[in-house]
Amino acid sequence: MARLEEYRDIIGPQLLEELEMLAQRLQGKTMLHVNSTAVGGGVAEILNRLVPLCNDLGLKTRWEVIKGGEDFFAVTKKFHNALHGDAQIILPKDYQVYEETVDRNLSEMSLEADVFLIHDLQPAALIKRRSKDSRWMWRCHIDLSHPQKEVWDFLRPYIEKYDACVFSAPQFSQKLTIPQVLIPPSIDPLSDKNRELEESEVSKILDRLNIPTDKPLVTQISRFDRLKDPLGVIEAFQGIRPYFEARLLLVGGSAADDPEGAQVYQEVVERAKGDESILVLSLPPTSHLEINAIQRASTIILQKSLKEGFGLTVTEALWKGKPVIASAVGGISQQIIHKHSGILVHSIEGTTYWIQRLLQKPEFAKKLGENGREHVRNNFLLTRHLRDYLLLFLFAQTREDEFIRL
Ligand code: UDP
Repeated sequence: MARLEEYRDIIGPQLLEELEMLAQRLQGKTMLHVNSTAVGGGVAEILNRLVPLCNDLGLKTRWEVIKGGEDFFAVTKKFHNALHGDAQIILPKDYQVYEETVDRNLSEMSLEADVFLIHDLQPAALIKRRSKDSRWMWRCHIDLSHPQKEVWDFLRPYIEKYDACVFSAPQFSQKLTIPQVLIPPSIDPLSDKNRELEESEVSKILDRLNIPTDKPLVTQISRFDRLKDPLGVIEAFQGIRPYFEARLLLVGGSAADDPEGAQVYQEVVERAKGDESILVLSLPPTSHLEINAIQRASTIILQKSLKEGFGLTVTEALWKGKPVIASAVGGISQQIIHKHSGILVHSIEGTTYWIQRLLQKPEFAKKLGENGREHVRNNFLLTRHLRDYLLLFLFAQTREDEFIRL
């Protein structure tokens, strides 16, 4: 497990000292993170790395996962899509399933802590049992700016019981009666997903996965989810085909809290049928080294999402110095400065155009990747994220009216 000291060469000494100084002021406090899945998806990814580092700094930090049946996760998936702004049919029974599951968790989960960081909507209602002297923060990882009213009306009273709400980007926020804090997410440069790999290691992994490297690889790595627009990616790629030799690689897996995944995967396989230049690969959620190697072996990384939270796949690819073509949605616009640290697109045609341009202009593509890596080093590494959480916890210990209001 990585220790803080190991980050020195990547981030320099100043941030390390800052982290130790902040942690000293929090000694003796206990923290609890709760989310909805232990593996798969960006939130689990971050917690897997962040929690051990907090403990390394001497802060007693635990991580719990809310437990629920298929019905609960089907309901929370609908809520998730509704909060993103997609119209969903919500039945009275759905609210009941949500409440009952949260209540069951409340009776089974150990909720002992000074500071709570509750991630996303699945465990949001746990706050109904808060004790007076604990501090509760709701960490919203999605774009909440245009929620379906009915679902938001149901969740909002819970959210406004929190001491503060954390968003990943200013444009994701909502009007709330509680203070709001901006904390972008991050990646861990030392994790298996992101650490440096030898070229021989990369080749070995690609061989094992049966991914040919004889032609440039254009890759999108994402859960099989309609909001990641895998069919749009196929269409965009097929647009380059008369003129360019390349392969499209669609890599995904389905997170434990995403029941739609299998269906979307089938649709993608069906659409790719008969086109030998398209590879569709489903990987288990623990395939961190594999994802790392695939990103490194790729010529171009795509992220053609229709909606996006922050878009960690973009951060990961930029950190590896890859040219990224991604939709200008969600947190992606924070990461990609168009034609400087990557390419922002708004359509299938635009994606086709830029894949062609970058294949034609490898020097320009390389420069985009280099700029992207520096942008991530300065803004989106785990150590900066850790510092922001420590600052938030420190504020949480102070009086409510001392919170920074954004
Ligand atoms: N990921 C993975 N396997 C997959 C697809 C995605 O490990 O088959 C990882 C990906 O590398 C990234 C995270 O899951 O770390 C996805 O985070 P992102 O913010 O891009 O999207 P989310 O899935 O949270 O909507």
